[in-house]
Amino acid sequence: MRVLLIGPPASGKGTQGRRLAADFGVAYLSSGELLRAEVAAGTPLGQQVADDLACGDLVPDEVILDVLRPPLETALRSGGYLLDGFPRTVAQARALDEWASAVGGQPEAAVWFDVADDELLRRSRSRASIEGRADDVSAVARHRIDVYNAATAPLIDYYRQAGILIHIDAARPIDEVAAAVDAALAPFDVRAQ
Ligand code: AMP
Repeated sequence: MRVLLIGPPASGKGTQGRRLAADFGVAYLSSGELLRAEVAAGTPLGQQVADDLACGDLVPDEVILDVLRPPLETALRSGGYLLDGFPRTVAQARALDEWASAVGGQPEAAVWFDVADDELLRRSRSRASIEGRADDVSAVARHRIDVYNAATAPLIDYYRQAGILIHIDAARPIDEVAAAVDAALAPFDVRAQ
C-alpha cells in the first residue's frame, strides 16, 4: 500500500494515518514529526528549520526531501508507505514522482481530508491546549491554514489529474471519517488479496 494523506493542519490526517498504519501494517511517515524530532535533537538540520516550524512556514523543498528519502526507501522495501504531510507543494509532488518512478514506488492513492477553515481553527485551539503544540496557537494556526491554501491545495488538482485523488469529508466525527477512509482504501489493502 502506497498512500499519501493530504489535508490542512488539524484535518485529522495524523490521527487516521497512525490508525491506518497499525491496522494495515504499513509504515507511517509524518514529515512534521521527522522535522520536530530533528529540532528536539538539536541537529544542524533541526537548527536550520526551527524558525520555519515555529512560524508555520514551510521548510525548503530540498531539506524535506533529504529528511524523507531514507525512511521512505526503507518503508518501500518493507511493503509501502502512508505519507502524512508530504508532498506539500507541487515541486515536492514532482520530486516524489521522479523518485517513485526511479524506484517503483508510485503512490496509488492521495487521500484528501477536506475540512473548512473555521472548523480547522476550532480544532487547532483545542489541540494547542491538549497537546501543547506551539504551532497550534491561533495566529500561527491561521498562518498554517493560509500556507496550506496557497501552497498545498493545488495538489488536489494535481492528484485529481493523475487519477488517484480520494475525497473524504473529514469534518465528521473521527469514527465516521475512519469508516470512510477504510472503505476508500480497501482496494489497496494487500492483506485482502
Ligand atoms: P505537520 O506536523 O505536518 O503539521 O508539519 C509541521 C511543520 O513542519 C509545518 O508547519 C512545516 O513547517 C514543516 N513541514 C512538514 N512537512 C513539510 C513539507 N512537506 N514541506 C515543508 N515543510 C514541512
